[in-house]
Amino acid sequence: MNYEIKKQILDKIKEYNKIIISRHIRPDGDCTGSTKGLKAILEASFPDKEIYLVNSDYSEFLSFLGGEDEQFDDDFYADALLIVLDTASTDRISNKKFHLAKEIIKIDHHIDIAPYGDLSWVENLRSSLCEMIVDFYNTFRDELVMTKEAATCLYTGMITDTGRFRFRSVSGDTMRLAGLLLDQGIDTDTLFARLNLEDYDYLLFKAYALKEIKMTENGVAYIHVDKAMQERFGLSKEDSSATVSFLENIKGSLIWASFIDNPDGTIRVRLRSRFVYCHDIGENWRGGGHECACGATLYSKDEIDQLLAEADKKLKEYKETHEGWL
Ligand code: AMP
Repeated sequence: MNYEIKKQILDKIKEYNKIIISRHIRPDGDCTGSTKGLKAILEASFPDKEIYLVNSDYSEFLSFLGGEDEQFDDDFYADALLIVLDTASTDRISNKKFHLAKEIIKIDHHIDIAPYGDLSWVENLRSSLCEMIVDFYNTFRDELVMTKEAATCLYTGMITDTGRFRFRSVSGDTMRLAGLLLDQGIDTDTLFARLNLEDYDYLLFKAYALKEIKMTENGVAYIHVDKAMQERFGLSKEDSSATVSFLENIKGSLIWASFIDNPDGTIRVRLRSRFVYCHDIGENWRGGGHECACGATLYSKDEIDQLLAEADKKLKEYKETHEGWL
């Protein structure tokens, strides 16, 4: 699928000696895994090229996958090809110097509401960006080299973005491509331990947070991780944002959201759903993403109430007009 654009991207990679890879802000497993995985594949395939990973933020939780490069001076970009992974719109690109590059390639699996780049390969039905990178490798496997390091990074993104291969977006292709990574001998015991283990103190916070979950009339579950809660438990940004997973297994609650106070006074929304789509709600509130997993930004407590009213109405209508949901 999409052979032509993949071939154009490979040709562009071959054309450049200097390649910079970037991703979206607030890195998750998929954008971290795909950027590091692509970098490792390109380094192994083209040892004479300079390949860099440049961004402006960092994930402590994913630091076991390795570090990134320091930012360069502006003129360093003049002869560089810049590949942006997993980032729907330019405002979310973590490397703020991306526009200085000679040419830009976008590779993404979000709904393409804000196209950019000299070349763009977007497949919004792919379960993860890492799946697209493995597909890219697999398409040109006679020319590209997969390594155990690349496979570990890419597998990390595949499992985190698919909820451990649970989501509807997982296809036969997803599993075949994941199998190709496992063939590299990934240490899955260590990988899952790194992703799943929690500190005891965090468990105590979780016990508290579970009691703070609230429900709208028709079953939208939500939690507001406000400044006071963050201070009381000494939560990192990642601790706060992980709360969305506390809400995901409540019967009849087909839409759920975490509202997280940002230091600048805005409120980050992490919105999720099953059966019913929620991405339009994210788009209504300065955000976007996938059909059942999106984000948004709010400016006040009042906007939280408005977003919840919108989600509640949507869920009510869905429940009244559909059967078989759980
Ligand atoms: P998150 O809750 O931050 O994990 O976001 C869920 C999905 O929506 C991810 O794939 C994000 O890249 C995407 N997303 C989150 N926030 C936004 C936003 N403001 N605009 C566009 N996409 C977003």
